[in-house]
Amino acid sequence: MLIDSHAHLDSERYADDRAAMLARAWEAGVGMVLAIGIGEHASGMDGALSICREFNALSAQGAMFPRLYASAGIYPHNTPEADDAVLAKLDGLLAEPEVIACGEIGLDYYHDGAPHPIQGEGLIRQIEIAAARRRPILIHCRGTNESTDAWDDLLAVLEEHWRSTGLGGVMHCFGGGWEQARRSLDLGFLVSFAGNLTYPKAQPLRDVAARMPLDGVLAETDAPWLAPAPDRGTRNEPAFVVRTAHTLAGLLGVSDEKIASATTKNFMRLFRLGADVGN
Ligand SMILES: [Zn+2]
Repeated sequence: MLIDSHAHLDSERYADDRAAMLARAWEAGVGMVLAIGIGEHASGMDGALSICREFNALSAQGAMFPRLYASAGIYPHNTPEADDAVLAKLDGLLAEPEVIACGEIGLDYYHDGAPHPIQGEGLIRQIEIAAARRRPILIHCRGTNESTDAWDDLLAVLEEHWRSTGLGGVMHCFGGGWEQARRSLDLGFLVSFAGNLTYPKAQPLRDVAARMPLDGVLAETDAPWLAPAPDRGTRNEPAFVVRTAHTLAGLLGVSDEKIASATTKNFMRLFRLGADVGN
């Protein structure tokens, strides 16, 4: 079984064929998907939980879909929306058993959007809520072009406000260098690789992936974005995590079966999911 550890199943781009898309994932061997709850805006961060409940209910009646879990969080550029009411809503969502993670949250200095201090404040307020709810966090981090500026700020925040919780998290769609990967592992994070690992120009990222320990990696789609090669630019979907996992297996010198079992084990360990995948 493979797990897609990051997919935006609530995207409008699945409005017409969400069930068929999830059935394809199941047929491709994807047994579980973590649906990311950030919405288009913070007000929509409950969308992933709704989809999770809808399809898990159908699975309970015998339909063949991956088991779904959900996250909830305020995306870096939506942090200006993080007023007390929105943060209270986040807190409530993290109390739900299916909502196993807070995210994706973090820092994005690449795109113009929320001012950096607002992003930083939003990140800290959210990780305080996640810590109280004992939920690991899903981190989005992207610096200005080749700079490590966002990573430097992020890792400083995590050292000060998160390390002591012992909860760890996921560095989603990892795009940093070895130093950032090493420090992430040291903070108890898993490093998750997305479809960009397969792109021709991503050799530096593949070089980082090749150095990773097998117990520190995940594979994800970030669907509907980042379709792996050769479908780059088209709509991505969880079934395609198979290709990213295959690329990761090649880099680590293990079989596809081994990367599937390792990433599944890593995911279950981080989120403390038992064999019955309850919570
Ligand atoms: Zn995402």
